[in-house]
Amino acid sequence: MMATNGREARGLKENGAVTEEQPHANREAVRPQKFTFSPEPTMEDIRRMQAEFTDERDWDKFHQPRNLLMAMVGEVGEVAELFQWRGEVAEGLPGWTESEREQLAHELSDVLIYLLELAEKCRVDLPQAVLRKIALNRLKYPASKVHGSAKKYTEYED
Ligand SMILES: [Mg+2]
Repeated sequence: MMATNGREARGLKENGAVTEEQPHANREAVRPQKFTFSPEPTMEDIRRMQAEFTDERDWDKFHQPRNLLMAMVGEVGEVAELFQWRGEVAEGLPGWTESEREQLAHELSDVLIYLLELAEKCRVDLPQAVLRKIALNRLKYPASKVHGSAKKYTEYED
């Protein structure tokens, strides 16, 4: 067994941050470490920044809902291009270069920016809408019924 200074055993990083506990660390299939986003910017922050960006360029006249939808789908295609011909890609993207990861961050951001602007132009309050949708998904897919299964909700028996 490898000697530790105790910090690693308690899941403490050098900077004092606590890492996720891995209770099944001895098992072969260890779940990847959890990843979280930064708390900011919020969806509203991003909506506002994009509105400023388009206003400064007088581009709002082009940003009707259908155009924004087309633009977003185009950006989804750019994300897909980065995964094209690679076969299955593991969580965390092992083997991807920093430049490839940055390119992915750019394209995912493009998708998000257009998504938020589309929601704005359609008057969908996305942060609240997503709360309602997650609540609906919980009702549709009760954990007790669907645990570990990928079936669609119509395939479950009551
Ligand atoms: Mg792009």
